Amino acid sequence: MNEVITRLKNSIDKKVLAAVDKASMGELTFVPISIKHDQTSQKDFLFVAVCQTSDKEKINQILKKSFNNPIKFMNIGKDDIMDLLKELVPSDKIAKPSESSNAESSNDDGKSSNNPRRQGVRLGEILKEKGVITEIQLQDALAESNRTGVPIGSTLYEMGYITLFDLKNALGDQTGYELVSTEMLANQKEFVNILPEDFIRANSVIPITSDGRMLTVGVLKPLKQDILKAIIYLTGQNPKQLLMTHYEFNNSLETFFSRHKKQTQKIIEEIKAENLGVEEGESLSEQLDNELLNSTGAVAKFVNQIITTAIDNKVSDIHIEPRLGGYIVRYRKDGMLQKTIDIPDKAESMVITRFKVLSRMNIAEQRRPQDGTFSMPYNNINYDFRINTLPVSGKEKVCIRVLAPAVSLKSEDKQIRLVGADMKDINKITRMVSCPNGIILTSGPTGSGKTTTLYSILKSLNDESVNITTIEDPIEIKLDGINQSQVNVKAGITFASCMRAILRQDPDIILVGEIRDYETLETAISAALTGHLVLSTVHTNSAAATVTRLIEMGAKDYLVSSTLSGVIAQRLVRKLCDDCKQEYHCTREEAMKVTLKEDEIQKLMETPIYKAVGCNHCQFHGFKGRLGVYEIMPITKEIKKLIAQGAHDLEIEECAVANGMDTLHSACYKHILNGYTTIDEFVRVLGLAGE
Ligand SMILES: [Zn+2]
Repeated sequence: MNEVITRLKNSIDKKVLAAVDKASMGELTFVPISIKHDQTSQKDFLFVAVCQTSDKEKINQILKKSFNNPIKFMNIGKDDIMDLLKELVPSDKIAKPSESSNAESSNDDGKSSNNPRRQGVRLGEILKEKGVITEIQLQDALAESNRTGVPIGSTLYEMGYITLFDLKNALGDQTGYELVSTEMLANQKEFVNILPEDFIRANSVIPITSDGRMLTVGVLKPLKQDILKAIIYLTGQNPKQLLMTHYEFNNSLETFFSRHKKQTQKIIEEIKAENLGVEEGESLSEQLDNELLNSTGAVAKFVNQIITTAIDNKVSDIHIEPRLGGYIVRYRKDGMLQKTIDIPDKAESMVITRFKVLSRMNIAEQRRPQDGTFSMPYNNINYDFRINTLPVSGKEKVCIRVLAPAVSLKSEDKQIRLVGADMKDINKITRMVSCPNGIILTSGPTGSGKTTTLYSILKSLNDESVNITTIEDPIEIKLDGINQSQVNVKAGITFASCMRAILRQDPDIILVGEIRDYETLETAISAALTGHLVLSTVHTNSAAATVTRLIEMGAKDYLVSSTLSGVIAQRLVRKLCDDCKQEYHCTREEAMKVTLKEDEIQKLMETPIYKAVGCNHCQFHGFKGRLGVYEIMPITKEIKKLIAQGAHDLEIEECAVANGMDTLHSACYKHILNGYTTIDEFVRVLGLAGE
C-alpha cells in the first residue's frame, strides 16, 4: 500500500464508514472517507474514494440515503481502491454481484443489482394474479413507488388498494420466507432496545421479541452472515429472522426512534442555548432586523421542523396557539387535533414572526387577522400552505393548512373512487353526473371531504373532449389538465365575478369551490340553465336541507327544481385499525345511541362489532385513516315536484328514503355493522340517533 493510500486510510471517519453498507462498498467499488467543510462553497462535502469504473450514479443513490451532504468523488487507481476495500470489507463481498432476495423489492441499500421496478412488477403481478388489484391500480402504484422510492407492496398498501394481510401473503409467496405477524409486534416495545438504534437503521433489522436466548428480529430482506454475527456479538442471543414489510419497518422506527421528535428536541435545546428572548428595551424594528437576519438560525430550523413533521405525518392543519404558560403546536390528523410540541419560552414571537416572513405578511401587525400563502420544497415536491393569524386575548394564534401537492388527472382510470362508498352509491353518483347540464352539490361541514368527492367526480369526467374550469378558495389540490383559478377578494375576484368570466370562456364543466351567497347561486343556476354542468359545495347538514337552503338563499323554487341534479351530503369517520380492533357485542343502551328502530337495535346487538384498541400500526390510536359516510340524493321527478311545491326538507327526505336513499345515520350504522368504525365515532360525528 503506497503512502497516499495509507494516509487516505487513516483519514477515514469511522462514523461515516459505519453508516454505509459494506457489501455495497465492495460491490460498487467505493470507500466513503469523511465529511469536510469547503471554504469556497461553504458546504460540507462527503468525500468518497472511487476508481474509474465505479458507477457513480448508483453510489450517489446509496449514499443519499444516509447523508444529506453533496458528494465529492476522488478518483484513485483500481488497485489502490481494492487495497483499501480489502482492509475494510470481507473479501467475499468485493466486486461480486450480490444474491439479493429482497422483501418487496426493497432497493433501500442499493445492494440489489436487479432493476427494482422489475421486482416491483413481480410482486404486483402476484397480487394481480390473485385478483387483489387491477392492472390500472398496479400502474398507478408503480408510478407512485417510482416517485417516492417506497417499495411497490407498501405503496399499494398505503394507497388503500390492498390490506397488510394481502401484502404479507404475496410476500410470503414471492420469497418463501416466514413473515412477522401483527401479534408479535404487540410487545415489541420491551425488546426493541436490545439492539442499538444506529445498528437498526444501518442494517434494516429490528428486534421484535426475545426469550433471552433467541432474539426474533424483523428484517427487510435476509441478513448477511456478518450482520448475523454482529447481532450475536452485540446481544449474546441467537437471531431468528422474519421478513417485515417496508411499511411495518418504518412504522416501528417512527414509533420507537422518531427522528422528528429527536430533531425537534435538539433544535429546542439550541433555541434555549441561544437564549433568543427579546432583550429589554429592544425596539420592534430591531427585533425584526434580528429575525430577518436569522433565517438560518435555530428559530428558522424550528419552523422548518414544524412543517416537515406535518408533511411526513400527513396532517391537514397545523395550529400554533397560546396557552396560559406559553405556546403549543398542535396537528390535525384524520380530523382530530393532537398536541405535539411545546414552543420554548420566549421563542414564540420569533416563531410567529418567522411564519409571517415566510408568507409575506405584515410582521408588525399583531392586532388584526391576516392571511397569506407560502410554499416550501421538501423531498423534491413543492408543498403549498395557506396560513392565517388571529389575535386572541392579546396574543396571536396561527393556523396553517397543508395543501396537497399537485396530482395528475390524466389517468385512464375513470372510475369514481370514494372511500366508504359502495358500488350502489358510486352508480348513483355516476348516473347523476352523466347528464351534461345541471347542478351537483356536496354538503357537509368543513373537513368532511366534500372537495375530495368533487375532485374524484372531476377525474371521472376529465378527457380531451371537455373543458373543465374551476374557481376555488384555496386551490386545495392542484390538478394537471384542468384550468384552476383562485378567488382573490382584495383584487375583486369573487366566486360570482370569476364564474361570469369563466362562462365567457366556453367551459363544459365548472367547479365552484363554494356557494355561500345569492350572487354565486344565481350565476350557478344560469350556467346550468345554459347547458353547463356545475359542481359545488354548500354548508348544510343533510342532502334534503341543502335544497331548502338554496331557496332560503333566494333562489326561485322552480329554478332549483329544474336545475339541481343531485346532492351528496357527507361526513368522515375514523376507520378502525384492522390490526388491533377488538370484537364485542354491544349493550342495548349503546345500540340506542345509533338507532331507535327496534329491528336495527336487535341486529346491532346480535352482530359482532368492534371497538378501538391501539397498536403500533396505528400509533396506538386504534384508528387509521378515515372513511366517508354518504347520503346521496338524486333529484328525481318526484322530488322535483316536491321542491316546486315548496315542501319542507323532512318531506323531501322521506320521499328520498322511500326511494332507497341511505341517510347519513343509516350509512354510518352500516359502517359499524361492517366493522369499519365504532359507535363512539358515530356519536362524535353525527350525534345521538333521533336528535
Ligand atoms: Zn392498531
